Amino acid sequence: MKICDKLAARQTFSFEIFPPKGELPLETAYAVASEMAADRPDWISVTYSAGGSGNSANTVPIAASIERDLGVTALAHLTCLGSERADVDAYVAQLEAAGIDNVLALRGDRAPGREARDFAHASDLVAYLRERGTDLCIGAACYPEGHVESPTEEESFRALYLKQEAGADYLVSQLFFDNEDFYRFREKCLRHRVRLPIVAGIMPFTSVKQIQRMAFTCGASIPAKVVKRLVLAGDDPADQARAGIEYACEQLADLAANGVDGLHVYSMNKLSVAHAAREALLACGYLEA
Ligand code: FAD
Repeated sequence: MKICDKLAARQTFSFEIFPPKGELPLETAYAVASEMAADRPDWISVTYSAGGSGNSANTVPIAASIERDLGVTALAHLTCLGSERADVDAYVAQLEAAGIDNVLALRGDRAPGREARDFAHASDLVAYLRERGTDLCIGAACYPEGHVESPTEEESFRALYLKQEAGADYLVSQLFFDNEDFYRFREKCLRHRVRLPIVAGIMPFTSVKQIQRMAFTCGASIPAKVVKRLVLAGDDPADQARAGIEYACEQLADLAANGVDGLHVYSMNKLSVAHAAREALLACGYLEA
């Protein structure tokens, strides 16, 4: 089922997983997805890695198994930096063959040797997908604190407007640790004529190291209240992870109370994160048992 139809019908709840790294068997991802499916998310998204440690060839098989074997809607990510139209055609053919209705159209991060070929921006990918007459429901990324490369706020919103005009159906946000950033962003979207549904993305921090990496790679700022939680949690990794999950659950409950279009949990492959998020959203009445 298309995610845009779900978003039109109700506030959604979704998870994200990544394909196993290195030589790990695909079965590890199937097992994680199967456990997450028991929490009845509206969809599970599967990330795409154009290089490095990930394996982009596994995105569609995992998404296909989520749809076919678990009966849960799958969202397959796709990055376009360094790709040609033929690569995108081949990917879409795989999605269609697997009965997957949803794609998240992304540019991907810049990396040495990954130069733009047929696509410079995510909006080019969205436009190409529409041009070739795809019936896929297309999501795109947005950034409550602005994209790290955007020199100005104006440029950041212009990029979103271009994705909307190219034919994106909805947006999923980058992680953020202060909900006020998201609320301000949502208002500004309207002022910049960006009217797509916006799914808020939340990632629980699970360690000091991880949150530092996130802040650097995504440009997400770390508010003092998060630093305090980490200081209070002390040096024990389990306490740090507990503090991160608790904080994320509070963020989710607050977003739920403030009328979001959808909540996406960057659960990655952590079942404890997925289950805790569901419990928090059941407790605040966003989800029904
Ligand atoms: P774009 O929309 O192309 O934006 C990139 C930069 O270019 C921005 O600064 C934007 O302002 C600017 N820009 C856009 N259009 C124009 C234009 N026409 N003229 C001038 N400047 C322009 N990465 C992965 O590798 N795999 C994943 O699976 C993945 N999943 C993600 C899921 C979500 C929800 C999010 C938020 C991010 C994800 N990413 C993923 C990371 C993403 O690839 C990076 O954030 C990347 O740097 C930008 O991707 P984008 O699609 O937002 O690019």
